[in-house]
Amino acid sequence: MAAITSRPGADANGKRARSQVAASRLLFGLCYDCTVSFVAEFNSLPLQSLVKHSLGTEISTARTSLSRDKLSLTDFAQLISPAAAGLLEPLGRRSQQLTQQRFGKVIRLFAPLYLSNECINNCKYCGFSRDNPILRVTLSVDEVRREARALAAQGFRNILLVAGEHPKFVSNGYMAECVAALHEEIPSVSLEVGPMETEDYRPLVAAGADGLVVYQETYDRAIYDEMHTAGPKKNFDWRLETPERAYAAGFRRLGIGALYGLADWRHEALCVAAHADYLLRHCWKAQITISLPRLRPCAGEFEPLTHMTDRELVQLVCAFRIMFPDVGLVLSTREQAKLRDGLFPLGITLISAGSHTEPGGYTGAGKENIHQTVRGRIIEAGSSEWAIPTNGNATNATGQFNIADDRPPEEVARLIQSLGYEPVWKDWDAALTV
Ligand code: SF4
Repeated sequence: MAAITSRPGADANGKRARSQVAASRLLFGLCYDCTVSFVAEFNSLPLQSLVKHSLGTEISTARTSLSRDKLSLTDFAQLISPAAAGLLEPLGRRSQQLTQQRFGKVIRLFAPLYLSNECINNCKYCGFSRDNPILRVTLSVDEVRREARALAAQGFRNILLVAGEHPKFVSNGYMAECVAALHEEIPSVSLEVGPMETEDYRPLVAAGADGLVVYQETYDRAIYDEMHTAGPKKNFDWRLETPERAYAAGFRRLGIGALYGLADWRHEALCVAAHADYLLRHCWKAQITISLPRLRPCAGEFEPLTHMTDRELVQLVCAFRIMFPDVGLVLSTREQAKLRDGLFPLGITLISAGSHTEPGGYTGAGKENIHQTVRGRIIEAGSSEWAIPTNGNATNATGQFNIADDRPPEEVARLIQSLGYEPVWKDWDAALTV
């Protein structure tokens, strides 16, 4: 997803001069060593040899990794190997046992609330891309409150605010107002809005946001460059350092992930694992979550460049759990109901349900202001082949992607109960924050 703030002092690539960043870090008294970032560690990862090692792993070696208490990145490479696909049952058993031990028999639910589908970036795989002639809208704070109340009425107490990047329509002040308006009624508000400076995050934390989600999309620099054709998101390193800046600003829940379908999935998974390991060591007060989104159809009709099968997704969920027993694993409505139901008991701890990926999707809020945007200018709404049909509820603003599990939240909650798990609508109690 996108950044929503202008960054004073940024160069043409959106990167602030190193000296300015260092100065601002000193100014704001950050609690991590500002000379260290995951970028340096990432650049020295032997990724090619780890992928090669994974592909050549023998089943006996994978079995050894499965039996270890503490796993290295090499063990993780062995668990995601083609050979370890033959160990899916023992992988699942170990993953399930660890999940129940660390999290209990509980599945937490959250809902995404889209604030805006305006964006100045062109990401080839995303429906909100600047050049897509879609129907757009930015909700007012009152409309955001209306959407949140509709979600609260369904039971949700954990909401993820999502927005594209467009400083003109979605400013920092607007974001802080939205968070403050929701914080009164929703105990857990997270953001998926993209990279900002630490000092720009602080007002959002002060307003009540406690979690930040930022997917690297792909950890393959060449593919990242190819996918991000215009806009500040082109800056790979800036995005990669985002969780650390968010942590320094006070966020206590950090979500990372790769978007599977862009680069080789084993390469991406190894990078996510290395990233999570780094954050666990350097941002130790934060709760870390890993999401496993696979590309879905969207406006622009981008075709995935790579494929990850359902079985490989199951294998990866188990491998992440065995590698990181305490990390939250997130599964969204991008996956089909049947697959989701099968994955819940295997290691997933946090799921979305009943999701809409268009602003106003829960109540029709913003319906009167639907428009198209051309080079930052609003033009009258025409038609769009990607408009969502109105059903009396939706705004018909275009969604970011098509969801695959469209069951209502209460049906998903009932299913969770039928599996012997407790559906929990709240992420955590702010009073427990360290
Ligand atoms: S185009 Fe989509 S993925 Fe890219 S920054 Fe905008 S909203 Fe995020």
